[in-house]
Amino acid sequence: MKKPLKRLGQAIMIVLLIAIALLVYTFLPIKLTTDPALAAGIGRGRRDPSQLPEVSFTLLKTGKMPSRRAFAYRGGNWAESADNGMAAILVRHPQATFLFDTGFGSAVDQHWLTIPLLMRKLSTYVKEPTAAEQLRAQGISPSEIKWAAISHSHWDHISGLDDFPGLEVRMPSQELDFIRAHRYPGLIDQMIGRLNVHPFEFASGPYENFEVSYDPFGDGSIIFVPLPGHTAGSTGMFVNLRSGKRYFFIGDLTWAREGIERPAERPWLARVLVDIEADKVRQSILRVHELAKAVPNLVVVPAHDRRLHEEIAAQSPIK
Ligand SMILES: [Zn+2]
Ligand SMILES: [Zn+2]
Repeated sequence: MKKPLKRLGQAIMIVLLIAIALLVYTFLPIKLTTDPALAAGIGRGRRDPSQLPEVSFTLLKTGKMPSRRAFAYRGGNWAESADNGMAAILVRHPQATFLFDTGFGSAVDQHWLTIPLLMRKLSTYVKEPTAAEQLRAQGISPSEIKWAAISHSHWDHISGLDDFPGLEVRMPSQELDFIRAHRYPGLIDQMIGRLNVHPFEFASGPYENFEVSYDPFGDGSIIFVPLPGHTAGSTGMFVNLRSGKRYFFIGDLTWAREGIERPAERPWLARVLVDIEADKVRQSILRVHELAKAVPNLVVVPAHDRRLHEEIAAQSPIK
């Protein structure tokens, strides 16, 4: 009787050790293999900065979630604490003042309860003044905001929308289809019925190394491009300024700038928790990596890289 039990114990130990070894492997600093073919088309749709309208933007920090750098990208340091920032981007264009993502809103405590239990156990959050509060403090009434676009429909990007009732919310039709298919249920399921959603198509032609884009003002200053994988309709936003400065807000494609620079994806555990199609995320990361390499003055901003948020907020409004 004792021998089979001992053998069973040994077998369980071996399986456990293999599982731990596999988990550790998923955090090792393995870079993605770059694909130079994805650089094709870089330069398309660019305008001379002097032809662009007077646009400025401000980054509003609305909260954060303390984490470890190791969770943000493969190769991140376990010992390094890293705040995931939650932000809204306020863009002032001559034709409209609008938001890109909204960060944490005033009802974030309720919204937090809509995320999976495992994620709540693994993390916590810290509130900062909401986008609506910061706008009021700057003398901007919510009615001056003409519309909001979202990088994707996850709770931490849409929570603040509740503070702008009736606001037109723009997202690509792929994201609306994704929401309606309940591929990633949560806060958006509860909110979608009360949102004034205006889906758009990427019908403005190629832009840089993206085959399709959406230029809401038709002037080359603000360009949305698809970055699918994290969600079906994940979207990035270029902000091209008259000064020649250029920014690219990439949503949750990566959680840290190193994800694009190295390039490196999230560790497996994070991928299975948050991404719907890891292959598409990889492809999008490699595409942005090629662009960032070819255009050194382009500032690529992941939606949660608090270090970049601090830098940008300190310079805001950026013209
Ligand atoms: Zn997300
Ligand atoms: Zn996010």
